[in-house]
Amino acid sequence: MQLYQDQTIQIYNSLSGKKEILKPIETGYVGMYVCGPTVYSNVHLGNVRTFMSFDMIFRYLKHLGYKVRYVRNITDAGHLENDADVGEDKITKKARLEAIEPMEIVQRYTVDFHNVLNTFNFLPPSIEPTATGHIIEQINLIQTIIKNDFGYEINGSVYFDVHKYNQTNDYGILSKRKLEDLIHNTRELDGQSDKRNPQDFALWKRAEPTHIMRWPSPWSDGFPGWHLECTAMSTKYLGDFFDIHGGGMDLKFPHHECEIAQNKAAKGQDPVKYWMHANMLELNGARMSKSTGNYINPAELLSGENDIMSKGYNPSVIRFFMMQASYRSVLDLTDAGLEASEKGFYRLMDAINGLDDLKAGTTSTFNVSEWKQKCYDAMNDDFNTPILIAHLFESGKLVNQIKDNNASLTSEDLEVLKQTMNAFTFDILGLENATKSDTGTDKLSEAVELLIQLRQDARANKDFAMSDKIRNELAAKGIQLNDGKDGTTFSTN
Ligand code: AMP
Ligand code: ZN
Repeated sequence: MQLYQDQTIQIYNSLSGKKEILKPIETGYVGMYVCGPTVYSNVHLGNVRTFMSFDMIFRYLKHLGYKVRYVRNITDAGHLENDADVGEDKITKKARLEAIEPMEIVQRYTVDFHNVLNTFNFLPPSIEPTATGHIIEQINLIQTIIKNDFGYEINGSVYFDVHKYNQTNDYGILSKRKLEDLIHNTRELDGQSDKRNPQDFALWKRAEPTHIMRWPSPWSDGFPGWHLECTAMSTKYLGDFFDIHGGGMDLKFPHHECEIAQNKAAKGQDPVKYWMHANMLELNGARMSKSTGNYINPAELLSGENDIMSKGYNPSVIRFFMMQASYRSVLDLTDAGLEASEKGFYRLMDAINGLDDLKAGTTSTFNVSEWKQKCYDAMNDDFNTPILIAHLFESGKLVNQIKDNNASLTSEDLEVLKQTMNAFTFDILGLENATKSDTGTDKLSEAVELLIQLRQDARANKDFAMSDKIRNELAAKGIQLNDGKDGTTFSTN
């Protein structure tokens, strides 16, 4: 029997605005599509947070025994700047600035993306399709949309007729926007567009002569519109109706709204049963974003080489920090927050690393199965990782009590405790085991403490030459030993 048969997961569905019970379309199988990165620059930690939220969801569903097909695309065909229908494509622009091929840009930042995700211990998705590898599927989709009279061609470009669509459908069903308000709020840029209405969006754009990334199509040599690739790739690999579609909150409109419109126009249905949106990572109280310059790259946070944080942090500490917030809450990245998470993370690791030394008792003074179900309940409640972590800390306290002989567990209960702690911490939250001494500064402290000990031994043996040598050599390296009445401490300059 699979674990999922015992657990009922509630998922917050952005479409209904409510938590709903996860009932996969096909029992035992979950299809999940998540919008991937546009590979024209290094990913920042905000991007990492969104992908980490879905990595945790993927991990939990797999843990429960679901067969999950997780599709996360690579956007390599180039969105236009400001994600609008006009302007230069971001990948081409970067390629032009660096005088290299657009596909070199794509390659470089795809590799960077994978390296970053590996550092944070992500599981690879089941399929990672690229937009440029699915141009034919996108052209087919446009042809169907035109045939169904929801798309029109002008000057080699094809647009989606939002007004026509809205007569029989609800454009705004996901983002809760009204077309009338959108019309009211759109500023028409004179002569810049040959669309029938400013709200219409591009399905295909004719390429200007300078545009490098281009493909032949029935309408022109050009490139697909921004929203089309996800519609083409999600339904290709997951079918015309699949379980979960995710992405960052900022993609709800227009990207996901347009995905629904394209699917309904082509196939008559919203393909998604549960729409999920992960909330934003902030820095200095504002959304982390490449375009505003308010961002920090993973490498800078890991090494400490940045102007914002006091030091570098272990990737699992950063992951723990992110998991201490619900994926649906805004999270502000601060030094104080990371330091608190660092303490918490090592406390949890100490508890886990102490599990093997615990001696079983004849009775249990703690209800382990009730605690275990509480861990599942937290995850079943829309993947509430902060509550889960609170339960893991509770068992951390228990470990200490058992060590101090203030609590006891039978060997069966001890085994359940171990398995559960390990499963939730490593398999589901995706943390990697570490001890405080894995950090560079702590290794240094340990090495100096060892030298202090050797110096004391030397003095006890009246080997003053050795004792002075240790003191002087350390001083030459900027490490001062201070002898006090409670022993020797050290300071660095
Ligand atoms: P992009 O490469 O811009 O398409 O972004 C890739 C993913 O990162 C999308 O799902 C975005 O919603 C998400 N994202 C962008 N900025 C942030 C942020 N500050 N916090 C969380 N997720 C973000
Ligand atoms: Zn997408």
